Parts: sequence; structure tokens; C-alpha cells
Amino acid sequence: MINFLDIKKVNAQYNKELIQVATEVIDSGWYLLGERVKIFEDELATFIGSRHAIGCANGLDALRLILRAYIEMGVMHEGNEILVPANTYIASILAITDNKLIPVLVEPDITTYNIDLSLIEENITPLTRAIMIVHLYGRTCWDVKLNQLAKKYDLKIIEDNAQAIGARYDKIRTGNLGDASGFSFYPGKNLGALGDSGAVTTNDDNLMQVIRAIANYGSSKKYINEYQGLNSRMDEIQAAFLSVKLKHIDIENKKRTEIAKYFCDNIKNPKIILPHFPKEEAHVWHLFVIRAENRDNLQNYLTQNNIQTLIHYPIPPHKQVCYKILGPIKLPITEKIHKEVLSLPISPIMTENETEMIVKTINSY
Ligand SMILES: *Cc1c(COP(=O)(O)O)cnc(C)c1O
Repeated sequence: MINFLDIKKVNAQYNKELIQVATEVIDSGWYLLGERVKIFEDELATFIGSRHAIGCANGLDALRLILRAYIEMGVMHEGNEILVPANTYIASILAITDNKLIPVLVEPDITTYNIDLSLIEENITPLTRAIMIVHLYGRTCWDVKLNQLAKKYDLKIIEDNAQAIGARYDKIRTGNLGDASGFSFYPGKNLGALGDSGAVTTNDDNLMQVIRAIANYGSSKKYINEYQGLNSRMDEIQAAFLSVKLKHIDIENKKRTEIAKYFCDNIKNPKIILPHFPKEEAHVWHLFVIRAENRDNLQNYLTQNNIQTLIHYPIPPHKQVCYKILGPIKLPITEKIHKEVLSLPISPIMTENETEMIVKTINSY
């Protein structure tokens, strides 16, 4: 069986170093808010090119913290609207509604699967305060037009960079394009911890300070509470693991890109729609997503041929029970995508034999 993603094998590449830093953290007796997190935050900020990186508990919290901080700063208020792609992972939407803000679902572009930039302006109202872009599947979502719109309507641009660490727009990394960006280091992400963790990057000093305080019980000075905060911290041990793995992320992303290129060049089957291959660094191929009209049929066929695939995602947010309040709305492109997408195995440790077998199997479908 070709597994969708063999995380054990990904981490085994760095086994020695991971065990060594784990031992160091265990022996240090210091497990939270210490040197390791600070070091990783500096490394992440340097990698992204941002002034600040703030570690937190997970990717959902990273996005929640950004919005919560903007509310505390008076930039937005309960009931304000945030534009967000309708086909994103549910976490983007949860971060918005958790802060009593209103998600305005915008259809994606069917060729990039990212928010359709031509639909943004018509969705802006006097209540809009931010655009949340999602670099979905690892593909950069950006255009200079976004900055112009943000300036014209006084909006913040928030990046959900959970799937695209390392991707670029020209020379600028995702996570340094908008006003603030949320990262996830969930084990299956391109930069995965060995448990939960996340981060925010920003160039805004004030935002950084407010987020740090909110993530630590609303306190920047012990026992002095400015905000009704939360507890959202990155563990020292996860930070240590992430420092080990961050050094290799560009190489790992490059391997993903090579596999994606191989798939795009060699999968030839009229029943399959391949992802559009952009300028290389504008995609880090967290997922390799194809489309087929009879998707479930194709998935069964691949399972029978020992290729594990997944669907990202089977049900769009507006069709979820928890978001009945958002419906009924018509989002035909989003719904088409959810009916047709299928994610093939792609990871930095896949062998040539495996990628060849995937191509051969799909071509004879
Ligand atoms: C994974 C993911 C998140 C949430 O990250 P967690 O660390 O699992 O909380 C948010 N947005 C997107 C697009 C994701 O893929």
C-alpha cells in the first residue's frame, strides 16, 4: 500500500537530532515559555522575513488570536464581516465565528482553488474589516490588487498560512504578504511538530504585544491581566523539534515540487483534471489535488490498486450542521470542488517507484 502520508518515515530522517533535543528539554526541567520557543520564534521570523513570530498552541488558535487582538485593539468589533474563501478548511471559519465576527464566504477560482480575487470588491460592505486569504493546498494566494483594495477600504489582510509555509510571491514568503498570518505545525503539515503547535507572524509591533498577552491569560506582566485572555502556548519540546525540522523545510518543499511536476508532466488521462502548476516557488504542494467527475469511483479504483487517497474536503463549511446559520447560500463552484477533488499521496520521502506506480495506475483508469 502506498500510504497517503507516512509521518513516521518523514520524522525518521531526523531521528537522532529529535531524540537529542527531546533529551535536552527533558533534562532542562523547563517546559513552557522558555529559550527553545524564543529560539524557534526568531528562526521562524527570519525564515519568513517578518519582524515577529509568536508561538502558540495550534493553527486554529493562531487565527483566533489575530482576530481577538484586532478586536481588543479596536480595529474590529463583534458583528463585523471578514471575507474568506468558501472552500477553505473549517478552522479558518471557526476562528472568525469564535470571535463573533461574520464570515462572508467568497467563491474560489476553479483553476487555483484559492479565493477568486475578482469577487472580492463586490463583497465588501461598510461592515467589512478584513480579508482572510488562505494559501490552500500550499499555493500562494496573492496579487498586488489585494493591497490596493485593503488601502481603499481600510481592511486588514490576514493570511491562513497553515498549508503553505515556504511558498512565495516573487521573493516574499507567504506569512509576510498581509498584516498578520497564522501557521499550523500539526504533524501532517509541511512543517509538522510531533504534536500540536502554531504561530503568528506579523510586522506590527503593537499587534505582536497584544497577541502575546492574550495567549498568556491576557497578561504581559505576571498577575496583571489587561485582557480576558486564553492559554495558548507552544511547548518547549515542540519548539525544539520544529527548530530541527525548519532547517530542512526548503529541501522538503523542493522534493514535493519535483513530485508535483512529475505528476503534472506524466499523468495523462482525459478523465482527470490536474492542478495548475504555477511559477515554482508559488506552491509548496502540501496537497496534490486532482479532480474527476466520478471522484468516488476513481478513489475506489485507486484503493483497490493499493494507493491511499484522501478528500480535502468532502463537505464545505456552509453545508456543515454547525453552520446552518450561514445557509442557504448558493456556492456552485465550492460545491463542485467538494464533489470532485481527490488528493494523491505526495510527501518528501516518496520513492520514484511509488510515484511511477501512481502515474501508471491513474493513466490506466
Ligand atoms: C490545519 C489548518 C488549520 C488549523 O491548524 P491546527 O493546527 O490543526 O489547529 C487552519 N487552516 C487551515 C487551512 C489548515 O489546513
